Amino acid sequence: MKKNLTTICMSLIILLLGTTLSFAGNGKLGTSKAVNSGSGSGMAALPYDYPSAAEISALTYMVEEEKVARDVYTVLYESTAIPAFANIAAAEQKHMDAIIALLNKYELVNPVAELAAGNFNNGDLQALYNQLVAAGQVNDEEALLVGATIEDVDIFDLLHELTVVDNEDISAVFTNLLEGSKNHLRAFNALLLLNGYSAYQASEYLTQAEIDAILDAAPSNGSKKGSANNNTRLPQQSNMIDANGDGICDLLQ
Ligand code: ZN
Ligand code: ZN
Repeated sequence: MKKNLTTICMSLIILLLGTTLSFAGNGKLGTSKAVNSGSGSGMAALPYDYPSAAEISALTYMVEEEKVARDVYTVLYESTAIPAFANIAAAEQKHMDAIIALLNKYELVNPVAELAAGNFNNGDLQALYNQLVAAGQVNDEEALLVGATIEDVDIFDLLHELTVVDNEDISAVFTNLLEGSKNHLRAFNALLLLNGYSAYQASEYLTQAEIDAILDAAPSNGSKKGSANNNTRLPQQSNMIDANGDGICDLLQ
């Protein structure tokens, strides 16, 4: 079983990193019905603790921000045909599903339930989507930079939200999303380097030191893997399979 997962994961890594391979999916991104988030099957067993106003606002905002990621990557997969965009868009659907499961648990409104791809309730997120889609369609390098930027924004916001959240279930989901976003940032940065472009640099969200720490760390849960990393920050495959042992490919969380 573990071996199968490893094999699947290795294939996914090849898909993520191989810009010349064609994506074998069915092209129906964003239609996943998966209820289980891929962020831990024990989530439903965590205590029922009705969220505070700040937590409700965090859930409402983050589900829409995950939708920005999913919808931008879907468009950029169409414009670039880089497989990572399709694979990571599917991961973003899982991130949305994880938050929607919490909204459902507490019978809160799912703000994205009726929203078509590319449409957002929040004006700031609509503007962000419009700006990133336009920027990313210029060429492959800009597309990969947009991918890294979205993960940068996502990590920045999740770090903040984690300081206002104390529900065990919400913290657990946000922490898993955070680790997934770090993996995605590392994947986009690796693709930038593999294609001969410069590494992703800090802009207005995380600091350069925070980005450097993420890019230098091993995938998932921040466990250190010694000093074998080098300045090129290319992925170490042995670290990229299932570092947290949850049976899910780290790059797809
Ligand atoms: Zn995400
Ligand atoms: Zn992501």
